[in-house]
Amino acid sequence: MRVPLTGMEGAELAEAAGFDRGFRALQVFRWIARGAESFADMSDLPLPERERLERDFGPLYGTRVDASLEDGDGTVKLRVRLADGAAVECVLLTDIEGRMTACISTQVGCPMACAFCKTGTLGFLRNLEACEIVEQYLHLAKRYGRPSNLVFMGMGEPLLNLEAVRKSIAVLSSPDGFDLSYRKITISTCGIVPGIRELAANGPHVRLAVSLTAADDTLRSELMPVNKRWPLAELRAALLDYQKATGDRITLEAALMGDRNCGPGEAEKLARFIGRMKAQVNLIPWNPVDGLPFKEPTRAQVEAMERRLEELGVTVNRRMKRGRGVSGACGQLGDTGEVSPKRRAADVREGD
Ligand code: SF4
Repeated sequence: MRVPLTGMEGAELAEAAGFDRGFRALQVFRWIARGAESFADMSDLPLPERERLERDFGPLYGTRVDASLEDGDGTVKLRVRLADGAAVECVLLTDIEGRMTACISTQVGCPMACAFCKTGTLGFLRNLEACEIVEQYLHLAKRYGRPSNLVFMGMGEPLLNLEAVRKSIAVLSSPDGFDLSYRKITISTCGIVPGIRELAANGPHVRLAVSLTAADDTLRSELMPVNKRWPLAELRAALLDYQKATGDRITLEAALMGDRNCGPGEAEKLARFIGRMKAQVNLIPWNPVDGLPFKEPTRAQVEAMERRLEELGVTVNRRMKRGRGVSGACGQLGDTGEVSPKRRAADVREGD
């Protein structure tokens, strides 16, 4: 089967494309990063070379965007159709200072079954290839300009597809291409302890975020089955090892559900879990998903949690409710079929 060149760099790209001169691979790599649509666009390659590439590796992209949704708050969601007909979603978030973050998927569906997450209800189909991960970023960059930040936080658990994630980071951080520094790249995991340890030992040492949600083993196991396999004590030890290897602050995400993890004592448990760890807590008001039995937190609940954590000396960041109009907010990804006309966003269908 033809493997698109978009997920390769350096020697791998040179070998796969049959280049006997290294700079040809570099030329192709730079064209891809510049947003070339096809090999025909690569005007500094000799014509016979462009024709050979088109014949042997064309089309340049293995995926296509078959729907895009734009929310009134500036959030964009693309549905990316893969060569085998499956689909994933990626999201572009723009903050008030205009910084763009690409939120990218790593699996079709997800096997982790977190109770509050739409993707978790889909089950797992397969891992994405590196080219399918990179192309999500490329599709966003071509339409909206290069996102300065990248987070592996879309559909799927990135640490269960670590080799493809590593390859995609190598491509997207290359100084010959998008040149994203490791400090601008975040892997967000639900708490796969062996994956965290592997990342600590062998890198890349990008930023790490963990969907913690609750710092109580009983409640966390109920909301996140991963906790039954790797409970909080094991997770905490792995996070401290990652911090030792990188020196970086860890981000702990807490999706707040009004009827589950906003009660008295939750902030104290979170603060105890953090202890001396250098960490920041992102409070994310739970985003409603049809059919899931949770309540959104009230504004008062979120503010009370924020206040209590601050009193306990925890660095807190309250996340805005962004992307809801396109079901592109945290925990809402998973529209791989037709898009509901009821949603308030403009639905712009795109052909291939
Ligand atoms: S929160 Fe992340 S790990 Fe959990 S089911 Fe959703 S996509 Fe998977």
